[in-house]
Amino acid sequence: MSGRGEIDRLVTLLGRLPGLGPRSARRAALALLRQPHARMLPLAQAMEQAARAVRTCSSCGNLDTTDPCAICADPTRDAGLVCVVENVGDLWALERAGVHRGVYQVLGGTLSALSGIGPDDLNVQPLLDRIAGGSVREVILALGATVEGATTMHWLHERLARFDTIKISRVGQGVPVGGALDVLDDGTLAAAIMARRPA
Ligand SMILES: [Zn+2]
Repeated sequence: MSGRGEIDRLVTLLGRLPGLGPRSARRAALALLRQPHARMLPLAQAMEQAARAVRTCSSCGNLDTTDPCAICADPTRDAGLVCVVENVGDLWALERAGVHRGVYQVLGGTLSALSGIGPDDLNVQPLLDRIAGGSVREVILALGATVEGATTMHWLHERLARFDTIKISRVGQGVPVGGALDVLDDGTLAAAIMARRPA
């Protein structure tokens, strides 16, 4: 036994986070371990509190500490304008850019035969319910310009086209091929939303 089981476990868990390989995980662990009280315990506490508080919004799929989320509950947001995104990271990117004054629908993925993600795996029913309820005026499809994004947009468009009361548009130029929304800078995102066109 090396006697450092706790530290190994910390490095292993950190290394499973997106963007952190084993080397970055070791560096992060070391930075934390050097200041256990000043850095590590506040982080641990914040993580525990966030883990207990986090809720998935039953209306849009966003992550927040309330259900419905702060965006859905905000009376100043335009509930008739729904932006469809792949994941919460994309929603946060659009919020940071401050370009969308409506609400969202987070699909939780894109159609992918390779990853085994089919239509039933996408969080789309709340959107269909909202449309059927008559509260939606326009749906903006803001999915990345990947093969999966394009496939998903096509599929969604077919499902939404039966509602002739709504306008369907898609984000305009500026979304790079194969690019996910959350890597775009705010200006590019803003331009993409402003330049949306009929889908
Ligand atoms: Zn919500």
